[in-house]
Amino acid sequence: MADNLLEEDLYRFEELLDEAERTTLHRVREFLREEVAPHADTWWGRAAFPHHLIPRYGELGIAGMAYEECGGAPGGSGATPASSLLNGFVALEMARVDASMATFYGVHSGLAMGSIARCGSKEQRERWLPAMGRMEKVGAFALTEPQGGSDVALGLRTTARREGDTWVLNGEKRWIGNATFADLVVVWAREEGEDGGVRGFVVDTATPGFKATLIENKIALRTVENADIVLTDCRVPEENRLQEAGGFRDTADVLRHTRSGVAWEAVGVMLAAYRIALDYTREREQFGGPVARFQLVQDLLVKMLSDATSCLGMVVRLAQLEDAGTFRDEHSAMAKAHCTTRMREVVGWGRELLAGNGIVLDYSIGRFVADAEALYSYEGTREINTLITGRAVTGLGAFV
Ligand SMILES: Cc1cc2nc3c(=O)[nH]c(=O)nc-3n(C[C@H](O)[C@H](O)[C@H](O)COP(=O)(O)OP(=O)(O)OC[C@H]3O[C@@H](n4cnc5c(N)ncnc54)[C@H](O)[C@@H]3O)c2cc1C
Repeated sequence: MADNLLEEDLYRFEELLDEAERTTLHRVREFLREEVAPHADTWWGRAAFPHHLIPRYGELGIAGMAYEECGGAPGGSGATPASSLLNGFVALEMARVDASMATFYGVHSGLAMGSIARCGSKEQRERWLPAMGRMEKVGAFALTEPQGGSDVALGLRTTARREGDTWVLNGEKRWIGNATFADLVVVWAREEGEDGGVRGFVVDTATPGFKATLIENKIALRTVENADIVLTDCRVPEENRLQEAGGFRDTADVLRHTRSGVAWEAVGVMLAAYRIALDYTREREQFGGPVARFQLVQDLLVKMLSDATSCLGMVVRLAQLEDAGTFRDEHSAMAKAHCTTRMREVVGWGRELLAGNGIVLDYSIGRFVADAEALYSYEGTREINTLITGRAVTGLGAFV
């Protein structure tokens, strides 16, 4: 398109961004087209993370653009934080090309930097966020444990014991994205003693007692490195305890924002699947012409586009609520559950339209089908996000 809008964005939602924001988005789009798209299937097939690209992500100036300590929005005035709408479109754009790299970026910028931005003191934000914004330091976020997934809010097993000005961490974490090579990991632990409150710690991965082991043989998001972490008498200074994290409600505050990011990613995955299926069905000939001329094929294509478009409308409104400061847990929980559920069916239709070629990596659709499974389950499964929404609308908690 002459104005550089995505053809798949039928209702032109992107026009809601201002000009500076669109310039930033288009710079990200260009970078992804040049440096990620040509290699995404190869990295995925080999389960090989492109470490050499980390500085290039840093140069984009978008990590932590929602936080004023990072200088705010590129092209914006002063340190004004980027809008949630721009952040959302960037997440969509990344996932449209590669959900693995979108996840790598989301863990760093949303979960790790978001924890520091929302739960750190002013001194802590200034200490860590600018370097993380430039991606000179990469972050990870360690909440999930081998025995604590959906119910982690009720009982973290990782403990933190205070000894003077030092905290001693012990326990295990599972699934932690980027943790094999991150410089800093935000570790959530339960304080030993009567209070037993949840505390957050920024752990330097060079600290003795911190060990991360790569999880192998994944069938989704294969390019992302996820780790099992063991903390054995890992000593962290009090100055690295997130000073404003008073309990799990603060962890949940971070997740409320990152869940909306996953909903945006789901829209990106749907648009990618739609594009692949559209191009393929226009080219592929059966019964003497392109299969896209068949009514049953057009039915699937239009259902794919309709689902992606309605979910895009939902996340755009979500971003507006976020920017207006009226954004609640159930808003992001419902969007995360709904958009990832629609995504799971949409990628399946895309695969169906490629038939046999849909199951080889060469056509990319298989990667999106597999990656959709991880997006569907991480940052709260469909069931848990449904229960968060159900509790809000009925006033009755149904978790146990
Ligand atoms: C690729 C990937 C990356 C991840 N990255 C990170 C990361 O960087 N940091 C991090 O901390 N975590 C991460 N996670 C962990 C992720 O958030 C958890 O996998 C998720 O919260 C679900 O936990 P679980 O896998 O232990 O499932 P479980 O909690 O064991 O759930 C099993 C099943 O039971 C259902 N269930 C559980 N409780 C209820 C209930 N009350 N009612 C109805 N159904 C219920 C679930 O919905 C699910 O279907 C990642 C996971 C994956 C797969």
